[in-house]
Amino acid sequence: MAVDFVEGGVADVADGVFVYVGPEGDSNNGIVLTGEGTISIDSFVKNYAGLTQALERVSDRPVRLAINTHDDADHFSMNHFFRRQGAMIIASEVCRSRIETKMGLASWVEDLRKRNPAVAHELTAPGELVPHVGLEDRATLRIAGERIELLHMGHGHCPGDLVVNFPERGVLFAGDVLFAGVHGRLKTADVDSLIAMLERLAGIPCKTVVPGHGLPMKGVGREAIETYKDYLVVLRGRITELISNGVTEDRVAAELEGWKYAEWGREQLFPVCARHVYKDVAWRMRFSLYNESQIMTRAGP
Ligand SMILES: [Zn+2]
Repeated sequence: MAVDFVEGGVADVADGVFVYVGPEGDSNNGIVLTGEGTISIDSFVKNYAGLTQALERVSDRPVRLAINTHDDADHFSMNHFFRRQGAMIIASEVCRSRIETKMGLASWVEDLRKRNPAVAHELTAPGELVPHVGLEDRATLRIAGERIELLHMGHGHCPGDLVVNFPERGVLFAGDVLFAGVHGRLKTADVDSLIAMLERLAGIPCKTVVPGHGLPMKGVGREAIETYKDYLVVLRGRITELISNGVTEDRVAAELEGWKYAEWGREQLFPVCARHVYKDVAWRMRFSLYNESQIMTRAGP
């Protein structure tokens, strides 16, 4: 079923696998039906009403397992609702401890309340948002006989990135390690590591990949991963050249006007993205982590 980018909606991506696509490129929230109840992957309290309706529409069973791919607010902020339904909440240990730190800070809790004033009163015990389980490396779950793989990828988009693979359904949930057709801020990204991570992801056989933002890529998982890798390689190469030519951080977004992926959605986020990639590249260059020949290779054709 087609989902409107502005309105958001529910996409049916595989047998028993749905994605609530957030309005205007807000985060994707996975809903996976199993014989032992529903699995939720990521949640954003801002879109509480939309995700709740989507969950009710596809199943009358409670969420039994909630998985957080990372600790940005748009990926874990309905954990308390799922916990009250009896769900076990899982993330990487890095992500679990980062959520624990955030939920110990009044400013962060206040920020979550402001994301959706209509349900702010529900956030009474911030500890309820902290995942029960933090996994160090990987876990294989068996739910209703089905193998489900959770892989902690390291620090690419964010420290503690986790991806969730359903090999028997051919669906990979990539979290914000992958964006499809939309820009993101990349404010905590390690770009080199993110590119290496996408190479690893491209090696996981899957038909369909669900990015953290942008429409689910049905039947073209590998291509979507390769495209985002190209986005980052091209962006890193262009920014490396601009820094070498003395362009300042304040000018970098303007200098990239019309670049290869300029047409992607959420263009309002691109100036922030360009600044963060600039900072990431600049410190590597300052500490000579790249030499000239690497820059040429990395920049690609
Ligand atoms: Zn996100």
